[in-house]
Order: sequence, then C-alpha cells, then structure tokens
Amino acid sequence: MNEWKVCGYELKPGEKKQVMLHPGGREYEIPATLICGSQEGRTLLITAQIHAGEYNGSAAAARLAKEIQPENLKGNVILMHCVNTSGFWQQYARFIPEDHVNLNADYPGNERGTIGQQIAAWFVKEIFPGVDFIADLHGGGMCEALSPCIFYPRAPEVTEAALAAAKTMNVRYLLASSNSVGEYGYAANYLDIPGFILECGYGGIVREEWAEQIRECMLLLLDHLGMYGMTAEYRKTYPKKIYRNTEYLESDMRGVWYPAVREDQQVRKGDLLGELGDFFGNIKKSFHALEDGTVIYYTAGMSVLEGDALVAYGLESSAEEV
Ligand SMILES: [Zn+2]
Repeated sequence: MNEWKVCGYELKPGEKKQVMLHPGGREYEIPATLICGSQEGRTLLITAQIHAGEYNGSAAAARLAKEIQPENLKGNVILMHCVNTSGFWQQYARFIPEDHVNLNADYPGNERGTIGQQIAAWFVKEIFPGVDFIADLHGGGMCEALSPCIFYPRAPEVTEAALAAAKTMNVRYLLASSNSVGEYGYAANYLDIPGFILECGYGGIVREEWAEQIRECMLLLLDHLGMYGMTAEYRKTYPKKIYRNTEYLESDMRGVWYPAVREDQQVRKGDLLGELGDFFGNIKKSFHALEDGTVIYYTAGMSVLEGDALVAYGLESSAEEV
C-alpha cells in the first residue's frame, strides 16, 4: 500500500495525525484529524462548523477522532473539526467574519479573493479531488429551533448514492436540496461527489444527545461506505420520512416575530405559522401554511429582517415513508 498524501502531509497506512491545515498557504488554521486506514478504501471528508456556532458537529468530531482506529479502517478520513475558525474565536455564528462569505452558499470561491473565497477555492482545488464522499455537519442557528434532518443533493449523478447513505442514518427527516453553491452542493453538482448535510442541534448549545447522534451517524456512514465495521446493535433500521419538496417561508419585511409553531410539528393547509408585528404586539402580517406539512426548523427568536428564514416545512404531498 502507498502512503496517503493530503494537504502537504504524508501518512503511512495505519497512521493518524492531528494537524493544522492552512487554506491557500495562509495563516488561517483549520484543525484536522487525518486517518490513514491500514487497508485500501474510499476517502471520506467530514467537515464541522462551516457555520461557526453550529457546535454539535465539532463535539462529535472530537469523539470520532479519538475513536476511529486506523488499523480497523479501510480508506482514509479527513476530519475537519472547525472550518470557520475565525468565526469560532470571534463568536460570529455563521459566516466568515472577515468578509461575510457563507461557505454554504458562496462556492466555488476565488483563489485570489478574500479569505472566505480562498477557503472555498482551496476546498475545490486541494480537497475535493481526493474525496469520495462528503458529510458536512451543521445545526440550527442561534435563534433557529430544528428537528435533526439531512439535506441530500438534487444532483443527477449522485442523488442515488447520497440518498442511499442518508437512509442509513439515525435521523428521521431527509430533505431533497437544490443547493449547488455550498460545500457539499457544489461538489455534488459540479464534481459528482456524493454527500449530504447533517443538521443536528441548535441555539449555540452543545448537548450530549445531539453530539452522540452525530457521532453514531458518522459511524453508520463509515459502515455504509465499507470503511469501518459496526456491531449489529447499531445496524437497526431507523424509520425515515423523505421530503422531495420543502416550503421555505421567508420574511418580506423587517419585524418582531411571533412564531405559532414548533419544530417537528404537523401543520394543516391554512394553519397559522406565525405573525410579524411590532414590540407592542400589534400584528402587521400573518403567515399561513400553503399545504399540509411538518415543520423541520423555524426562527424561534423575535428579530426578523427582510429575507430572513421564518419556517421551513416539508410538504406531505411530496413525502415518502421508508
Ligand atoms: Zn449551517
């Protein structure tokens, strides 16, 4: 077996290294665990905290980095513990603070652009070519309550492979996504690399059950990809609901938000989803469900600007139980 070369590092079969990666050769630091399996196999990229402030993926990554033993691994794992490190240390919950680049929406970036653009371009040039599957770990935002879910790409060449992997996860809701300009979405649509986003946890808090759910999902993914054997205990079937269509309600005005739903709640066509008004409780606009659906996530805080997400609900007319 040959050595595995990645981002300027060389690993022998059976070796694990913890390093700082430097996108574009700059001082920017991404802490990563590189694990070179003792046998040949695929390469899995796991990224956490593309959106700083969505912490539970990082909590799971720390456990996985200790747990995954290279002697039992077929193939390689690149585990990035926190991609948006500047956002992490500046407590800037979503975008790259230096330039407001959203690494889930601003691919493919630019090698000679701002730091966020350079990070995206570095993924495209240095990381994606050696990767067979991408698991991008997210969660709901600071003011966004969310039921654990997976977004899989609507990309013709890889939808089947991504969905097959998503179906093995310990997560109830799977949602088709047409994002082609985020990390996994760009890789799926333009480079034919299957992958998904796993969303678990929210509110800028880490909880044991969320970190464990993500950890278990990643072990199930390694098992599904033939990279790491799991015990039968884990291989139970988790009931899934796939939504081919999701309604993403956005605000067309600034206002004080009074939500009327919760995550995981069933709504019927015409049900009140929430109202926008002022601080005195005077309502200016009411929002109602367009169809029967299930609330996957919603804004649970009060401050809403024009264009902000209010409620995302999977449409029952597009749903399939598996
Ligand atoms: Zn996110």
